[in-house]
Amino acid sequence: MKPRRSSLRWLTTAVLAYMVLAFAWWAFELWRQNDRLLGLSAQLLELKHNAGKRGVNLTALRETAEYQALLARHRKHQRMILSEGVFFTLCLGFGLWVINRAARRELSLARQRRNFMLSITHELKSPIAAMRLALETMALRPLNREQVEKICANGMRDAARLQMLVDDLLLAARLEDNWRPHVEAVDVRQILQDCVANAQVRFPEARVQVSIPTDFPLVQADRLGLTSVVQNLLDNALKYSPPGEPVRISIEPLSGRQMRLTVADQGPGIPDDEKAAIFEKFYRVGNEETRQTTGTGLGLYIVSQVARLHHGNVWVRDNSPRGTVFVVEL
Ligand code: ADP
Repeated sequence: MKPRRSSLRWLTTAVLAYMVLAFAWWAFELWRQNDRLLGLSAQLLELKHNAGKRGVNLTALRETAEYQALLARHRKHQRMILSEGVFFTLCLGFGLWVINRAARRELSLARQRRNFMLSITHELKSPIAAMRLALETMALRPLNREQVEKICANGMRDAARLQMLVDDLLLAARLEDNWRPHVEAVDVRQILQDCVANAQVRFPEARVQVSIPTDFPLVQADRLGLTSVVQNLLDNALKYSPPGEPVRISIEPLSGRQMRLTVADQGPGIPDDEKAAIFEKFYRVGNEETRQTTGTGLGLYIVSQVARLHHGNVWVRDNSPRGTVFVVEL
């Protein structure tokens, strides 16, 4: 995609340079014509005054009202050429800037969509292939109890991954379609427990520390939306941290609001210049060719949209000594 982007930039620069040069050339030509016109008109005036007398005084001629009128018209034309030249150049620059920006956005969206299709294909193919292999193994080979349990655990992990992917896709599609939260009294403690249990299936080595006050009240929120927020943040924290690194998830009361959810990990962290972009749809940090982790770029988009539709907000900061902290306030 890079060569396409840079050739677009070169093309735009070349067109802009050509148009500015063409404008400059025509402005210069007009300026010269204006000067020539003044010279010719002055000569005509001189001839008119010379008709009767001999040896007319040039200084006196320049002080006549006719010559002053010629001079004023000449200056007016100069001002017109200058102001219109500047105005057209500005309009041209602005127009090209708008076209260039739209083209760059289009290219970036197309690239993100392609990456999304690639990652979704991969996300669907691998668990399906793994489950098929597990079923074939069970059908064709005599297995002992321990082996069956292992295959079932792997199958459940793949099914949980697929389930979460499908939930994310459905919710993302609904968010596009003017989704409104179905607000009801929700037990966040229960949601937290379910999400941690789900995460333990997908990441058996996960160490999740949960912290929530015992008497935490029910929260007015959309159950599915809130579950998706917690699940996505927890899943990312586990996915992007080295295996076995602890992840802390906490809920606390917040004055003027219902709650604050914090998910902190000790993973690689997120570069400062990417912190805003990660909430965009399909956005994934890094290079598609070299990236090790799987994903669709939908998780944080869903988190930010659900928070926004609950009149809340979400942000990310660095953890200490390393890692990331996501904070959602509702
Ligand atoms: P994905 O399906 O790629 O995980 P998300 O929208 O959930 O999509 O996240 C967007 C990007 O933000 C990810 O590709 C990843 O690079 C980055 N990211 C999200 N959470 C974390 C985290 N806890 N630690 C490091 N990077 C993260």
